[in-house]
Order: sequence, then structure tokens, then C-alpha cells
Amino acid sequence: MTQADAGQVIDYATVPHDGWRAITLMGPWDFPIVVPPAPGGPEPKRPENRSWSTAWRGPILIHAGLGWDTAGARDPIMTAYWTSIMGDRPLHRDDWSRWRGHVIGVATITDCHPALPKCCKPWGHYSFWDNRRHHLTLGHVRPLVDPVGLIRNEQRAPIDLKTKGSQSLWKPHMRNFRIIDAVRRHLTEV
Ligand SMILES: [Zn+2]
Repeated sequence: MTQADAGQVIDYATVPHDGWRAITLMGPWDFPIVVPPAPGGPEPKRPENRSWSTAWRGPILIHAGLGWDTAGARDPIMTAYWTSIMGDRPLHRDDWSRWRGHVIGVATITDCHPALPKCCKPWGHYSFWDNRRHHLTLGHVRPLVDPVGLIRNEQRAPIDLKTKGSQSLWKPHMRNFRIIDAVRRHLTEV
């Protein structure tokens, strides 16, 4: 259990539709958040590095955006995490094709603070030159059992979550309520 998992545990199944916010992540940065660590392997990613802060403390949908960060795919912390789970299989953008544009997990924002030189290591970024940089602390991360199944089911519904997403925290539109219902059905057991 990480520090972020301390405190009140939210029962995601009972969060009302308008009690969610969503965050869009660029691949491959979603992987070390949503995919649980290997036993004895590196720590999962719990700070989310952003150039904005938020006052929101509550549940969020983790939305895999359409974007891809090439530098992230070469990041040594990232590749170490990937290898601890996937072995010798190279980290490649093609593996993200089934995630992109879909909800792949849920979490709770438990804190948000300005990035400091040594905080939230190894995943927290800090730049002396950029004082806008913030760490959003994620707790109670729960991957969906079967994001692929969710995609198949929801492709038939008139929804538009398969978008590029947005930079800041966003509020799911009423049109996405069916997705939230599907998320509840696909939550992993604790
Ligand atoms: Zn930090």
C-alpha cells in the first residue's frame, strides 16, 4: 500500500454520475499507473505530472488519450517498469491501440502540490525553470477488468469519449454516463 492509499476509501460503485471527473493520459504514461506492479518490482506511478493544479479531491476516470509520448517510451523508469511486467517484449506504441480513447481504470486524487526537487520519486518530475509543475497524487487505483470488453460493448452506444481528451481535469458529459455504468461493471475486486 502506498502513502496515497491512506485515508478514506471511496466505494467507486456508489459514486453518482456527476461525482466523477476524468483525466486524459498520454501513452505510455498510463501503463505504470493502471497496470499493477510485478511482485518485488518497481513501484507503480502515483504522481501525475502536470503544468496545472487542481482543487479536486475525489474519484477520476483514467482515460487513455490518443496521444503518444515518444520520450516517455524511452524513459528509463518507464522501461524498467514495463520490463518488470512484460519481460523482453519491447515497449511499442502498437500495444496501445486497444486502449486509446477509452477508460482503462479509476483512481482518486488525494493531493496536489507544487513539484519539489526530491518529492514523489522516482516518477515525480521537477524542473527548476518551470514553477507551474505540479504533482497530482493518485490513490486507490483500480484497473478495469477488461477494458477491451468495455470498448466492444460501448462502441455500439452513442458516446463520444473516444476523443483526443483534454489537458486539464474534465467533467464527463451526460452522454458518457453509459460509460460510467460500464466502468462500474468492469472494476476489479480489491
Ligand atoms: Zn511531489
